[in-house]
Amino acid sequence: MRYVGNIFRPPSEADSLLLQATIGCSHNRCTFCAMYRDKRFRVRRVEEVLEDIEAAHDYHGSDVRRVFLCDGNALILPTPHLLRILTRLEEVFPELQRVGVYANARDLVSKPTADLQEMVAHKLSIFYLGLESGSDRILREIDKGATAEEMVAGVRHGMSAGMKSSVIYLLGLGGRKRWQENAVESAKAVSQMNPNYLSALTVTVVPGTPLARQLESGEFELPEPAEFAAELRLFLEHVDVKATVFRSNHASNYVPLAGRLPRDKERLVAELTEAIRNHRFKPEYLRGL
Ligand code: SF4
Repeated sequence: MRYVGNIFRPPSEADSLLLQATIGCSHNRCTFCAMYRDKRFRVRRVEEVLEDIEAAHDYHGSDVRRVFLCDGNALILPTPHLLRILTRLEEVFPELQRVGVYANARDLVSKPTADLQEMVAHKLSIFYLGLESGSDRILREIDKGATAEEMVAGVRHGMSAGMKSSVIYLLGLGGRKRWQENAVESAKAVSQMNPNYLSALTVTVVPGTPLARQLESGEFELPEPAEFAAELRLFLEHVDVKATVFRSNHASNYVPLAGRLPRDKERLVAELTEAIRNHRFKPEYLRGL
């Protein structure tokens, strides 16, 4: 396999074959994000991607069940381009069960339902969308390039076509001043999305990013571990979803939590209350990005 630059994938795609269909992120402006800052966005030629599929087959044989299409938002690719990749994956890997992809709101809403349904029929059945925050003010501050309403519409559109959704909420993006706003507005947006999966990650300030410069100048203040926990507790108290698998056990999180919403809401809130009361947080040296 040939990879350009650093490769990222969601934690749940740890066992997937990683296939780079695009290079970088078409937006690449979020103030906290350093994932693709070293890459200029471009689409890889479909022939190159097909060659990589052959190379993966030579290496792994035909027993590949999951594939993740990198980089930042490969769902931006035109439908015929994606279908050529998906069709070849199905031919080469007959046991293929699922293909995943990062997507942004625009990628999703710009695809007609029929296109998304055809992709689902060819196993592209889960997308990962970084909501980050449900507050439009915070989304503007972090230069997300989309409003909460646009992201809600994107997630609902993808789900209505039969795709599964995995949404990421980023604790702490409101800083110390606006942690309540980040919690309550994100809970509102997530409730409207009603995603299949929801991950709450904790913001980590990466050197060299605009957010790191804002931290240095005092424009952004990073919450303390107890404040992150209080934000997540407030979020959980406000969120109203029907059947969502919830995870907050990423390396970045101070209090590892997992459960199903709404079923486990009370337990999750109680675990956070207990952690706040006893100052029981993951030490910094055990945290990662
Ligand atoms: S957070 Fe997502 S959309 Fe924003 S720059 Fe990073 S990869 Fe691109």
